[in-house]
Amino acid sequence: MSTTTTTPVEPAEVPAGLPTRLRHFIDGRHVDSLDGATFEVCAPASNLPYATAAAGKAADVAAAVAAARRAFTTGPWPHLPARERAVVLNRIADEVERRDARLAELETFDTGLPITQALGQAQRAAENFRFFADLIVGQTDEAYQVPGRQLNYVHRRPVGVAGLITPWNTPFMLESWKLAPALAAGCTVVLKPAEFTPLSASLWADILTEAGLPQGVFNLVGGIGEEAGAALVEHPEVPLISFTGETTTGRTIFAAAARHLKGLSMELGGKSPVIVFADADLDDAIDAALFGVFSLNGERCTAGSRILVERGVYEEFVERFAARAERIVVGSPADPATEVGALVHPEHYERVLAYVEVGRTEARLVAGGGRPAHLPTGNYLAPTVFCDVPADARIFREEIFGPVVALTPFDDEEHAVELANAVDYGLAGYVWTNDIRRAHRVAHRVESGMVWINSHNVRDLRTPFGGIKASGLGHEGGHRSIDFYTTQQAVHVAMAPLHTARFGAA
Ligand code: NAD
Repeated sequence: MSTTTTTPVEPAEVPAGLPTRLRHFIDGRHVDSLDGATFEVCAPASNLPYATAAAGKAADVAAAVAAARRAFTTGPWPHLPARERAVVLNRIADEVERRDARLAELETFDTGLPITQALGQAQRAAENFRFFADLIVGQTDEAYQVPGRQLNYVHRRPVGVAGLITPWNTPFMLESWKLAPALAAGCTVVLKPAEFTPLSASLWADILTEAGLPQGVFNLVGGIGEEAGAALVEHPEVPLISFTGETTTGRTIFAAAARHLKGLSMELGGKSPVIVFADADLDDAIDAALFGVFSLNGERCTAGSRILVERGVYEEFVERFAARAERIVVGSPADPATEVGALVHPEHYERVLAYVEVGRTEARLVAGGGRPAHLPTGNYLAPTVFCDVPADARIFREEIFGPVVALTPFDDEEHAVELANAVDYGLAGYVWTNDIRRAHRVAHRVESGMVWINSHNVRDLRTPFGGIKASGLGHEGGHRSIDFYTTQQAVHVAMAPLHTARFGAA
């Protein structure tokens, strides 16, 4: 991976005791790559390298899978009663909570996320473990009987070694979103975190070990996607892959997994519409739309990055939205006052800047559009608002994954739905109106896996999470996650002599 060196990291921003050597965690031990390969990791506020990370290849992945496989076939974890696994999951949540400030500090340093938002993500990671602990304890087996004759029940068992491949946006939280249900289901795991942001993942080993997870159940292999990630997908003893990342990567993984008929869950990119009708509460809609696209630096899969506004209130919306966007505090990720921090990596920053240049030729720029003057180095971009964006514009159709938003007017309900569905993605949608019938009508017509009405991104963890179209395959969340990490075996038991024809008895 290339890194751009600019000015030194501000000493005040470097977390005390920052790990500078990140290693794999295989069979309960921190290890280097078998061939000794490493890559550099840099901090987005300075773009200076701060650590070397072990770059896993197929041999490292094979060692991790072997350890996970051993823990699955000979270890206690898959066979523990749900209640006992839940005790460990709750202890993991305790360990995460105990470290939430440290996790937020490291995540902020590594990803450029504002510290207050990173703290919320760490707390949410703990919540994921508590949620799945409760869920498995509450789960009952499915059973049916024909009284006196037959008992039928469904025996669930963990699938085996789960391969978990995660992206760089909110990395720790998204890792927890996979680890918690996989472990709850009784799987053993190999996690391949994103190469841009391996820092917070390096804390899992301590967290999980201190919580009492048996050796070999959790394994981590760092490295480049095309090497470590691809090797995990290709490994014959990994029966399922849970992947979150870009749609193009998802397609590659889908093709590779098809050769092995692996189970797949794919949470991919998005270009989600926010539909604002003239009768909506504009104050609330503007607040939510600003947060929805600019929080987490706009590096959020469910970001409402296309805002469709009914023509009657369009000019007012554009003016107020742009004015607020201009006032967003862009600054050091470590500063609690910061609302938008530094984008994750110089390569990604350049990609987002290139979209801003494309946008200038396709639409009208009304806020942002470049580096804030007070931040001469680091991957900083002022929240950028384009209006009058046509539906065939690239900035309307393609995922930018940064603090850049496209505003487009619509004439009526039909037009709003047509614009909302005019892209390849289908992850989330947001509808703002005070007409309850229209709210549901439009929500049902938005082609997306999730839709919010007069709301944004707040969800009950029992509900399905996932996208349709180019945004994903399968839904996780609640019992669906447990379904994904388990197989179901129907067991049929005779309770009385059988009355079948006795072939060959005559
Ligand atoms: P990415 O696809 O580049 O990388 C994701 C992970 O896949 C990384 O760990 C990477 O190393 C690995 N990888 C890359 N190539 C691989 C290959 N050939 N085989 C196996 N693994 C490979 O994605 P990213 O840039 O890290 O993340 C941003 C993307 O993730 C955005 O598109 C965003 O919308 C999406 N995302 C989606 C959701 C969701 O729930 N739908 C959530 C978060 C992020």
